[in-house]
Amino acid sequence: MAIDDSGSSSFFAPWPERLRHSAIILLAAGLALSALVALADLSLAPAAAVFACIAAAALVPWRMRHTVASREEVRAVTPAESAAVAAVVAGMPDPAVLLDRAGRVIHLNAAAAQLAPALRKNELAQFALRSPEIITALREAMATSESRRTTYLDQVPVDRWMELTITPVPMPTPFGGAEKCLLLTFHDQTPLRRVEEMRADFVANASHELRTPLAALSGFIDTLQGPARDDAKARERFLGIMHTQATRMARLIDDLLSLSRVELSAHVRPDVLVDIVPIIRQVVEGLELLARERQVVIAVEIPDKPVTIAGDREELLRLFENLIENALKYGASGGKVAVSLVTATSGEGAPEVRVMVRDFGPGIAPEHLPRLTERFYRVDVGDSRAQGGTGLGLSLVKHIVVRHRGRLLIESVPRKGATFTACFPQAKPAEAI
Ligand code: ADP
Repeated sequence: MAIDDSGSSSFFAPWPERLRHSAIILLAAGLALSALVALADLSLAPAAAVFACIAAAALVPWRMRHTVASREEVRAVTPAESAAVAAVVAGMPDPAVLLDRAGRVIHLNAAAAQLAPALRKNELAQFALRSPEIITALREAMATSESRRTTYLDQVPVDRWMELTITPVPMPTPFGGAEKCLLLTFHDQTPLRRVEEMRADFVANASHELRTPLAALSGFIDTLQGPARDDAKARERFLGIMHTQATRMARLIDDLLSLSRVELSAHVRPDVLVDIVPIIRQVVEGLELLARERQVVIAVEIPDKPVTIAGDREELLRLFENLIENALKYGASGGKVAVSLVTATSGEGAPEVRVMVRDFGPGIAPEHLPRLTERFYRVDVGDSRAQGGTGLGLSLVKHIVVRHRGRLLIESVPRKGATFTACFPQAKPAEAI
C-alpha cells in the first residue's frame, strides 16, 4: 500500500517512515556504543549485547505497525477519492450521510443538512440525530456492521414519516483506513402513507355509502314480503322510499365511475375546442324545474358570442350541473342563484375564462372551505343525504377543473351565500369576448 513519505529531504527520505525511525535509532545506538568502547574502555561483548537489545527494541514497533498495516490496509485517502465519495453522497436525491466506523460524519448532502441542521462534518452524528429509533439502529449497525432499516416520525417542522436505511460501505476515510463506513439514507414516506390512508378511507366511505341504501332496500323488501304483504297503502309508501334509495345508489355509482374516469385521464389535457356558452345554457335549462321547485330564480349573465376553451363537453356539463345544483339545493333560502361568465387575466398574466356560480343562502363556515373538495366530505351529512347528495360532487368538479388545467375558487361569507368560480385557460385570446 502507498504510504505517505513526503516532506523529508534527508538521506533516509526514500525509506519507509517507520523503517527510517528504526534505522536512525540503530545508527545512534551504534555510534554511542562505539564511543563507549573506544573512550570508556568498555569490553566488546557487553557492548554487543546492549546493541542487540536496542536493535530489538527499535524493530518491535516497526514489526507491529507492519502487521496492523497488512491487516487493515492502512493508508491515507487521496483527495481525488474523497472528492469522488463526496460527489456520490451529494448526488443522491434523498438525504444521505456517510459516517465513519465511530459514527463521525464524513460527508453529507444538502438534503441531509436540511433534514438535520445540527449535523456537522467530523462530529458524531448521534448528537445531531436524536430520534431514539435512529440511535438504536445506528448502534446496532455499528456493533454488527450489518444493514439496518427503521421508520420514525419526524415532528419538526411538520409531521413526516421517514424511513432510514443504514448500509455498511467499505471505504477509505480521511481518518485513515479502508474501514466499514455507514451510509445513512433517509426517505420521506409521508406522501405514500397519505395515499394509503386516503385509499383506505375511500374504500370504507364508498362501501358505507352503498350499504346504507342497500340496507334500506333489503329491509323494505323483507317488510313487503312479510307483515306488509297485503297492506296496499304501506306498499305504495315503501315502494316510493325504495325508489329514492335505488336512485341514490345509482347516483353514487355514477359519481364514483365519473370520478375514476376523470382521474384516469387526469394527465391528458382535453384538446378539443368547445364553446362554453351553450354548455352553461343547457345546464341551466335542465335545472329550471329544480329551481322552480325550490322557488329560486336563476339569473344568467353570459355573453352571446362564443367563448372557447380546450375542453371535454361531457365533463364540463357535469361540472356546471354540480355547481348550479348545489347552489339550488344548499342556497335555496337566498331565493336567487347568479351564473355569470367573464374573461380575466390569471395571476401569471394569462387570459382565462371564469364561470361564477353564486348563491345567497346560508354560506359555508370558513373551517369547512379547505376540505369541501375531499371525497365524501359534507358540511352536514344529514342535509346532504336529504338533498340526494353523494358527497362526491365537488371532488368531481375539482378533478375536472384540474384536468382542464384550471383552478377552482371557493369563497363564502356565512349567512350571505357562497361563490364557486371555475377558471379555465382561454383557448384563443383573439376570440375573447
Ligand atoms: P353533495 O353530494 O353532498 O352535495 P358535494 O361534494 O357537491 O356533495 O358538496 C359537499 C358539501 O359542500 C355539501 O354536502 C354541502 O354541505 C356543501 N356545499 C356545497 N355547495 C354548497 C353551497 N352552495 N352552499 C352551502 N354549502 C354547500
